[in-house]
Amino acid sequence: AHLARIDAIDEKVHAFLHIDREGALAQARAVDAKREAGEKLGPLAGVPLALKDIFTTQDMPTTVGSKILEGWVPPYDATLTKKLKAADVVILGKTNMDEFAMGSSTENSAYGPTGNPWDLTRIPGGSGGGSSAALASFEAPLAIGTDTGGSIRQPAAVTGTVGVKPTYGGVSRYGMVAFSSSLDQGGPCARTVLDAALLHEVIAGHDPLDSTSIDAPVPPVVEAARNGSVQGMRVGVVKQFSGEGYQAGVVQRFEESVELLKSLGATVVELDCPSFDLALSAYYLIAPSECSSNLARFDAMRYGLRVGDDGTRSAEDVTALTREAGFGDEVKRRIILGTYALSSGYYDAYYGSAQKVRTLITQDFEKAFEQVDVIVSPTTPTTAFPIGERADDPMAMYLADLCTIPTNLAGNSAMSLPCGLAPEDGLPVGLQIIAPAMKDDRLYKVGAAVE
Ligand code: GLN
Repeated sequence: AHLARIDAIDEKVHAFLHIDREGALAQARAVDAKREAGEKLGPLAGVPLALKDIFTTQDMPTTVGSKILEGWVPPYDATLTKKLKAADVVILGKTNMDEFAMGSSTENSAYGPTGNPWDLTRIPGGSGGGSSAALASFEAPLAIGTDTGGSIRQPAAVTGTVGVKPTYGGVSRYGMVAFSSSLDQGGPCARTVLDAALLHEVIAGHDPLDSTSIDAPVPPVVEAARNGSVQGMRVGVVKQFSGEGYQAGVVQRFEESVELLKSLGATVVELDCPSFDLALSAYYLIAPSECSSNLARFDAMRYGLRVGDDGTRSAEDVTALTREAGFGDEVKRRIILGTYALSSGYYDAYYGSAQKVRTLITQDFEKAFEQVDVIVSPTTPTTAFPIGERADDPMAMYLADLCTIPTNLAGNSAMSLPCGLAPEDGLPVGLQIIAPAMKDDRLYKVGAAVE
């Protein structure tokens, strides 16, 4: 049924970069055979899923939305891919994304944009716009995203779906193509809080192949999602997540959500987190710095594209020609920015200062979580904007992540879930819930209560 749905509408939506029709049907039949044989089935047996094209898959190409990896079929499965297969999930295919997960609209994909199923002329968020669009268009009931600065939560917000950035280290990064390693985090995307929890439980857990993976039990997310409640909870509202640039309808739906939380028995506490105002600036130094280092591996020798290798050129020239042809504008912009920020003489002023701000943000969260159990905010300042509107204005694009980035810098967990439609444009608004590290279950407890 989901393959038929994809056939009917994906030409318009363009959620998928690769559809694995035969693989999906084979997986589905294998689940049927297991069931008939009375064998034990995995926890998500037979449930179709759309996988962001940033996780390696042995039986499908992995492009990360870039020309530089066009046609590359990885020799191994990411830990997350393996866990999905072990849970008997049916992987339908790989979803579209901003190149190397850099963007907030999926317009930076080398393979063309994805439409927002609510209005195909608008963006589905980014970088994981393919995954969020697949959910909103009913092409898949579950999807996987990655969140470095908001790429799970912002697409969820603008498509009226649920997305969770687990605690940093909660889901293995092994086999997830690196953008900014100290921020990157894979996580679940779904249409309901409980669906997200069921997927979260399957993909989370310690992995010795990821050196930053947390060696502790997975927070009890499914139990929390089944027992939604905010009775007696202290909920924080941060002053810095408001003001100029916030759309009226977004603010209205957010304020209604706060009233709902109160009516369900929560106490609301106003919080001041002054360093959050610096989060965007710090992120746009740290993320490009790490990207400039991580993307050095795309040297035309090891993977994918190779340009100009006709026997007359040096390896260095082939690398340069390949990177020139293979990377898009945003990726180049970040490599240049990051290389500059890390260069000797500038390192302390830029990268060093950004790291100090990062510590201040972590401290602001620590102080906040002494007073409250969770923090709530709008996920994004605006609803989905038209495709093309911010394409030539990187600064305007970066503002989409104003509310999501502090969480990545501090490493704690956050969810976006729908909280209604903005009256002025009829488009979905996202409510963000933020919890301390390894307290991901609180997101689901609160999310299930207000869903
Ligand atoms: N939009 C942000 C960026 O462009 C976040 C991306 C992400 O989370 N992968 O970096």
